[in-house]
Amino acid sequence: MEKNGSQTVKFFSGKEIPVELHKVRIVQKLHLKPIEERLQAIEEGGYNTFLLNTKDIFLDMLTDSGTNAMSDNQVSSMLQADDAYAGSQSYYKMENALHEVFGQKYVLPVHQGRAAENIISQTFIKKGDVIPMNYHFTTTKAHMELNGAQILEIYTDEALKIKSNVPFKGNIDIQKLKDVIKKYGKEHVPFVRMEASTNLIGGQPFSIQNMRDVKKVAQENGIMFILDASLIGEKAYFIKQREPEFKNTSIKDILLTMCGFADIVYFSSPKVSSTRGGGICTNNKELYMKMRDLVPLYEGFLTYGGMSVREIEAMAVGLMETTDETVISQSPSFIAYAVNELDSLGIPVITPPGALGCHIDSMGFLPHVPQQEYPAGALPAALYLVSGCRGMERGTISSVRLEDGTDLLADVELLRLAFPRRVFTLSQTMYLIDRINWLYHNRDLVGGLRFVEEPPVLRFFMGRLEPTSDWPQKLMKKFKADFGDSL
Ligand SMILES: *Cc1c(COP(=O)(O)O)cnc(C)c1O
Repeated sequence: MEKNGSQTVKFFSGKEIPVELHKVRIVQKLHLKPIEERLQAIEEGGYNTFLLNTKDIFLDMLTDSGTNAMSDNQVSSMLQADDAYAGSQSYYKMENALHEVFGQKYVLPVHQGRAAENIISQTFIKKGDVIPMNYHFTTTKAHMELNGAQILEIYTDEALKIKSNVPFKGNIDIQKLKDVIKKYGKEHVPFVRMEASTNLIGGQPFSIQNMRDVKKVAQENGIMFILDASLIGEKAYFIKQREPEFKNTSIKDILLTMCGFADIVYFSSPKVSSTRGGGICTNNKELYMKMRDLVPLYEGFLTYGGMSVREIEAMAVGLMETTDETVISQSPSFIAYAVNELDSLGIPVITPPGALGCHIDSMGFLPHVPQQEYPAGALPAALYLVSGCRGMERGTISSVRLEDGTDLLADVELLRLAFPRRVFTLSQTMYLIDRINWLYHNRDLVGGLRFVEEPPVLRFFMGRLEPTSDWPQKLMKKFKADFGDSL
């Protein structure tokens, strides 16, 4: 048995290197196309990486959602699925996994994480409410606002700093929580939400001590505590690594401890266990009964909730595997390797390393590109051009246009490079780092973008842009001068 389940080993040189504690048994072919074809592909995609076709992509680091590799046990479980509209055995396996792993008695299945947010928001929010949270997620905010609530992000001062060595940048500021309750009145605060780990600000975790403090304030005021557990496995790993009190606690006990603070736990299965789907869980029968009737209305019968039985089987196995440190440490170990390498090359990247991906500060990378010309959009387009690797814009393009026609500028302008679990190898990671480094040395050649087609809602998905000058051609020319015929 390994001393601990972590993927990182110390090399003779003293360097910490993540090694793959799995072997490859099924593979999918990738393509690394010449730069001329990549230029054509990004032009056709309107300089928006969402509009690229995977046939033109080498490493797809757009998201971890639904892109994690499945284990052999997950794949084989799908053959045992019990097809039934009601009372499927597959569902009871999932329910059992949620008792074991999250310690929750009552379960409502849903087709994905945002469906859980819809049901929770419809059930507990009334117009004029406020929802305090460590940070919002796009779909969370949309559902809560749709139901008439205002979201209040009460993160600590450290949360938005790019460079930091604070281990828990996802913490809630307890004083701000008390102030919110005082200002709006507890009757207007149906619940406080904690997201593990903050998706939009670098996958940063919170501590269990912070959860204790939040729970205390919530309980004193009769306010519910809701945990968004979409990235909870990786969160448990960070607790073990970074919170001394839990250094010797098993991942299973850390997971149970975290979920134990919450009145309601909900999750998006593509992040937790590689399959579509999700769930809402609680130990409180009254809360369960309040939400229950919306499941057949929006999702499907209570024993499938919009998922296929095959997905439910694989989810049950995936949830059980979340207690395995080897599984949940894989993505954070590779992210930590990439972040530390990029940081040592002087490239502005969010530290400390978090969950989900590696987040590059586009304003630090491209200081000459004004925020109005979308540095966080230009950088993924440029990186795709010079590497074939696809990241995601998380900045002002993902924000909205105000009534006066100007952009609501984002708090941070990030290029996110997701590391889905057990998908990429170390040599692929090294290639990515090398091309980012080359781009950093040639950053002066990268210019901005402007919209040519801008949808009014969620414009980042389908919007089309163009470069503000012929910078992509200049970048390609320099690439060819440096790399010759190499891809
Ligand atoms: C992905 C995600 C969601 C939404 O889940 P979907 O399954 O994509 O609908 C909600 N919260 C967090 C923190 C997420 O990362």
